[in-house]
Amino acid sequence: MTQRTLAIIKPDAVAKGVAGQILGRIEQGGFTILAAKLIHMSREQAAGFYIVHKARPFYASLCAFMTEGPCLPLVLEGDEAIQRWRDLMGATDPAKAAPGTIRRDFAASIEANAVHGSDSPESAAFEIPYFFAALEICPR
Ligand code: GDP
Repeated sequence: MTQRTLAIIKPDAVAKGVAGQILGRIEQGGFTILAAKLIHMSREQAAGFYIVHKARPFYASLCAFMTEGPCLPLVLEGDEAIQRWRDLMGATDPAKAAPGTIRRDFAASIEANAVHGSDSPESAAFEIPYFFAALEICPR
């Protein structure tokens, strides 16, 4: 089934200059990029995006990390895109991520872990319009 998912190349990966390599893996992975923009989130914008993690002990730290510099949100489309993008990202903790995954190759820590991906169709339905208006998404 064709799905859309929200991906983010996080501030650590943008700062390291590996956004282009990650975009290459996205294209090689058979995803179509429908939308992209470089943004520097405010603390309020990051807190709203990660509101589901409000009760987690790392919430404040995660929100601070996501505002350290610009990040690159993307809308990806493809067959089973939500799970396939999470497979390509790898486990949250790069030390546990499989060889060949983006987090294994580019992430520094469980927090500064290079990329984000929606974890369900419900999450994607919240996350895509959080960053992109309908006119900013280019259907193919
Ligand atoms: P994901 O779906 O693999 O991104 O993982 P989660 O939804 O569980 O967590 C969201 C984000 O919070 C992760 O991508 C990390 O950036 C961060 N995070 C997750 N677990 C931890 C943790 O134990 N400590 C810290 N500092 N950050 C974490």
